[in-house]
Amino acid sequence: MQLAPWASDSTHTRGRRYPEDAPSGRSDYQRDRDRIVHSGAFRRLEYKTQVFLNHEGDWFRTRLTHSLEVAQIARSLARSLSLNEDLVEAICLAHDLGHTPFGHAGQDALNQCMRDYGGFEHNLQSLRVVDELEDKYADFRGLNLTFETREGILKHCSKARARELGDLGRRFLDGTQPSLEAQLANLADEIAYNNHDIDDGIRAGLISLDELEALPLVAKPLAAVRSRHPDATPRQRQHEVIRRLITLLVDDLRAATEARLAEVAPADADAARAQSRPIVAFSNEMRAQATELKRFLYRRVYRHHRVYRMTRKAQRVVRDLFEVLLDDPLLLPPEHQARAAAGREAEGDAGSARAVADYIAGMTDRYALHAHGSLFNLRQVD
Ligand code: MG
Repeated sequence: MQLAPWASDSTHTRGRRYPEDAPSGRSDYQRDRDRIVHSGAFRRLEYKTQVFLNHEGDWFRTRLTHSLEVAQIARSLARSLSLNEDLVEAICLAHDLGHTPFGHAGQDALNQCMRDYGGFEHNLQSLRVVDELEDKYADFRGLNLTFETREGILKHCSKARARELGDLGRRFLDGTQPSLEAQLANLADEIAYNNHDIDDGIRAGLISLDELEALPLVAKPLAAVRSRHPDATPRQRQHEVIRRLITLLVDDLRAATEARLAEVAPADADAARAQSRPIVAFSNEMRAQATELKRFLYRRVYRHHRVYRMTRKAQRVVRDLFEVLLDDPLLLPPEHQARAAAGREAEGDAGSARAVADYIAGMTDRYALHAHGSLFNLRQVD
């Protein structure tokens, strides 16, 4: 596969934190992807909430199926833009590794709990998972991924935190961009969740396809499906609309990105990074329409009283766990007790709080609910 001059070339990687011999029979980015797929954090994505709690039904997306959809959309785009498909795949599969149980509700609650200890941010946590928390290689902590994969995982970051991250944080201080592959992964994430949240929202009975007609972005594919397939079943109609919607977004992103690449014509991957604005982007018109869709989903799905009710309960579970475990670290499993003790030794209260946050963030939905029962329900003995 011929890469564009501005694509990331694995033979020019900025390397790993702990130097290793080059892999045989695969590239460095393929090795990154393989390490991510073999990680414990990746397997746990299966039982973590995307929007609907894991136990609400087997039809809904989980963090795992979400990550696979993101990777699939991004890989197709990467191939058609002659960007590095392997790097894009590694970034996409790792992008949500740091997510707490219970989706954004869990992250918000944990961030609240950690407000006096440096906060909690799922994006930074994904980096922490691959840099520190995965613990199974004899020669190093974490997965020891390449700079480019780690750069792609870190989508945003405060200036204070960026200063601590050295090379990886520099772009947040000087206003430059990550690789084109990282830019692509970011927008593939948005395409995936906008579409599957419509799908899940309809399936859960929170919204209907007809209501979506008010959005210009959905009105066109909906009209096309109605005239071409007047006898389609509701489920077929839903799928036919969503697949057209994904194609609209993907085609727009490709065309707008090709136009910007032609205009900027970066000499290489670093020249693409040096831009003050991303090169991979939707057209202005599509950006506006996609934002309108996001607002609709926020109002009608994420803030729907049935979703919100679960959100509030999930927040309480996370808060309860954090308070009781921080108060008495003897309640932690031995491995996490050791981490809390080491954290306290190194950084005092903030260090032990971080170990508790790491433990909670690593939980799946069902593990968190079970742990909550074990700690608070007198009748639950294990
Ligand atoms: Mg995501």
